[in-house]
Amino acid sequence: MPQLGFGVWQVPDDEAERAVATALEAGYRSIDTAAIYGNEEGTGKALAASGVAREDLFVTTKLWNSDQGYDATLRAFDASLEKLGLDYLDLYLIHWPLPARGSYVDTYKAFEKLLADGRTRAIGVSNFLPEHLERLIAETSVIPAVNQIELHPHLQQHASREFHTEQGIATEAWSPLGQGKGLLEVPAIVAIGRKHERTPAQVVLRWHVQLGNIVIPKSVTPSRIKENIEVFDFSLDTEDLAAISALNEDRRIGPDPATFDAG
Ligand code: NAD
Repeated sequence: MPQLGFGVWQVPDDEAERAVATALEAGYRSIDTAAIYGNEEGTGKALAASGVAREDLFVTTKLWNSDQGYDATLRAFDASLEKLGLDYLDLYLIHWPLPARGSYVDTYKAFEKLLADGRTRAIGVSNFLPEHLERLIAETSVIPAVNQIELHPHLQQHASREFHTEQGIATEAWSPLGQGKGLLEVPAIVAIGRKHERTPAQVVLRWHVQLGNIVIPKSVTPSRIKENIEVFDFSLDTEDLAAISALNEDRRIGPDPATFDAG
């Protein structure tokens, strides 16, 4: 899986086609969508029109909450694949654990079948807390390849990252730029950007990359789409990394996975 990909949350279906096409032209090969984003069709059209060979693409989508459960999952997977216009997926994720419903183990057993049948090349989860992963690992056979969680300098997720490393699960950061809200104006990040002649977004993405996180920044602005992938030709030094790590506030932008139960 490429360490940096393109996220399309909140991109309407008709704009997703253009945004994903721009990202593919800029060199992105990994695209992160979800059934609930309503843009699997637009994403699929851009993938088909790009001329990029299927084996060079890495496509992730996610099972929405209302489709949890063994049979519903198998149906939802078929619907997503059809909208994307693909004959296999690279990574399928359970979008939220919904612990109060208690259905993520059954859901994941359907994921294991999809994996065994070659319909998806990898399976994983999103928004799982260590306690949810512990139950999943105890009751199923395949360790999730990835846990995609909210992660940025204001929410560094030390406990989850450590648990993932112990279990061999890759950590993928959603809202890696903190949704651009405030984080990109933090003086320490702006100063590090000036020092390296890079933008604040590039500094934050580079911090993730050096920590080993997979990142999927989103933008619909062509110049920013290009800017966000240009983070592999410079390095932050230990002082820069320490200054960004000091910004942790354990502050979520999104919902708490322990209680989130929508959809
Ligand atoms: P993000 O942290 O990627 O921030 C995106 C916003 O930051 C943009 O809308 C724009 O306002 C700003 N931005 C982007 N590039 C910039 C640049 N170079 N300079 C200045 N501002 C810039 O936020 P996100 O979209 O929430 O997260 C990224 C992806 O993560 C999503 O698109 C989606 O694929 C995934 N995601 C997953 C979940 C989940 O529950 N699994 C939840 C949220 C997001």
